[in-house]
Amino acid sequence: MSTGLAEAPEVPGWTRVYSGKVRELYVPTVPEDGDGDGDPQLTPERHVLVVATDRISAYDHVLATPIPDKGRVLTQLSLWWFEQLDDVENHVVSTEVPDEVAGRAMICRNLTMFPIECIARGYLTGTGLAEYRRSGTVCGLPLPAGLTDGSRLETPLYTPSAKAEVGEHDENITFEQTVDLVGPDVADRLRELTLRVYGRAERIARERGIILADTKVEFGLDVHDGTITLADEVLTPDSSRFWDASGWEPGLAQPSFDKQFVRDWLTSPASGWDRASDAPPPPLPDDVVAATRDRYVEAYERLTGRSF
Ligand code: ATP
Ligand code: MG
Repeated sequence: MSTGLAEAPEVPGWTRVYSGKVRELYVPTVPEDGDGDGDPQLTPERHVLVVATDRISAYDHVLATPIPDKGRVLTQLSLWWFEQLDDVENHVVSTEVPDEVAGRAMICRNLTMFPIECIARGYLTGTGLAEYRRSGTVCGLPLPAGLTDGSRLETPLYTPSAKAEVGEHDENITFEQTVDLVGPDVADRLRELTLRVYGRAERIARERGIILADTKVEFGLDVHDGTITLADEVLTPDSSRFWDASGWEPGLAQPSFDKQFVRDWLTSPASGWDRASDAPPPPLPDDVVAATRDRYVEAYERLTGRSF
């Protein structure tokens, strides 16, 4: 099996400015002249190259083992979704990227990101379920009694979280706290756009036999024209929970196309890892890597109807 791209590649014409858990960001090294050949003029103020590596993170750790092709799946799936979500302004400028990062990168508008992870949930699970079991609420919003793991919610909820520093947990916050962070107008708009993205995507996924249980999106401000813009990756197995609709049964663990498989292995006796310790997670065995790659590819193929 090929090893996958874990480290930031050198990209001619671009200078690396940021390394996230999964993505590497670059800006144009030298502003190019508009030379009349139809290329958009690239500048470090306005443009950023977003490169998805094959790294995978779980439980706030970047794992030592990359998942081959994951970066290309994330990028191609995001681009497909941006096209479907044609009523929401997004950050994509061009997919004509240098060969070194072909298929795994996109040239985007360089935005000032809002410090909020915008999450929409149509089903109860994960940290939402944990809070519900403690207090009957999710992000402070009261829910009816009797819900269980995987229950469908009457109406999708907007459950924002604050972007954490590297190595820290993102923290669920209330809508009022988002108002404190970005002001009332932007806070309203982020909620409205997030629920719009979720509503549309949930319908599209459902037509393809996939339940979009929840998803996280990020927005940024284009300071040059004031547009609140959908950024980062969208509706990928990293940012979303995808369940197989035919196997959905509230109360049970749902068959999923996301990295739940990796999380389950890490917390199983087979991994020998203690999540509560400071130790980094162990490398993934080949069969876990292969099964995870298959799930990412299957999510891409089922959603887009294309073969990877
Ligand atoms: P972080 O490192 O910010 O805590 P992360 O580990 O999830 O988050 P990645 O997803 O690997 O980071 O990297 C992507 C980074 O690029 C994120 O910080 C995201 O907010 C930022 N980003 C995405 N799109 C844009 C854009 N168009 N302009 C500027 N920044 C962007
Ligand atoms: Mg991210």
